[in-house]
Amino acid sequence: MNHRAVIVFSIFTISVSYLIATKLPKEGAKGVSNSFTQISETTKDTSITKAFVMGRFTPQTHVRFQLVPEHLCSKSMYLQKEVIVAFQQMKLSAASEGVSLRIISGTRNFWEQKSIWERKWNANLQSYGASANNAREILKYSSMPSSSRHHWGTDIDINNLSPTYFTTGKGLKEVLWLRKNANKFGFIEVYSPRASGRLTGYEPEAWHWSYSPLSSQYLEYYNQNIQYTDFKGFTGCEWAKELRIIEDFVSGVSRK
Ligand SMILES: [Zn+2]
Repeated sequence: MNHRAVIVFSIFTISVSYLIATKLPKEGAKGVSNSFTQISETTKDTSITKAFVMGRFTPQTHVRFQLVPEHLCSKSMYLQKEVIVAFQQMKLSAASEGVSLRIISGTRNFWEQKSIWERKWNANLQSYGASANNAREILKYSSMPSSSRHHWGTDIDINNLSPTYFTTGKGLKEVLWLRKNANKFGFIEVYSPRASGRLTGYEPEAWHWSYSPLSSQYLEYYNQNIQYTDFKGFTGCEWAKELRIIEDFVSGVSRK
């Protein structure tokens, strides 16, 4: 190769390398036809904040969020864009094996969770008063505002909210399919059965699945940055520390 040819060849090689380096992640982010491995390479969220992991934002105007297409869900809701893509792929795969999946709950921000929490708190007042036990009763299935994984736009409830639904027939078939296949699409069963070794936190929720490529980042950030002084602005927030919300509930999850 003469001198000129070497220069031309070098420029060509550098250009191709640049194109590969800059173009591939963009195509990965589009997602629909990509494998889970490619999606997960593009999911580093570099804009995580305390306000975000505690649900103090508006999904409707958040750049990472999108309205979930109607055919994927049972009501109007928002999720992170790549969670929608991953769920769509999982739904298609399940359908090809005769299993129907539909999202029945998606993102709930701090103020939506506060509304649920305070409604339950008030309903419990007669039995438990304004006590830690009132909160304990709610915490069997519902999160304290500021500590819900539904704040993150990564966690979804699928098909049914009744524990017994998933123990027989159609529901059992659905959860067995998810336990076998959901990992391939990035979803994990965070509130797994006690027999799996998860000892603290909420009762098992066979319907609740979490998009781990993102939610694992938020959990890590949460544990490094959130303190009990950050729990404020709702009835009963003063019990968060005594109830070990961060240690036992936020961290009381299965991680794969
Ligand atoms: Zn849930």
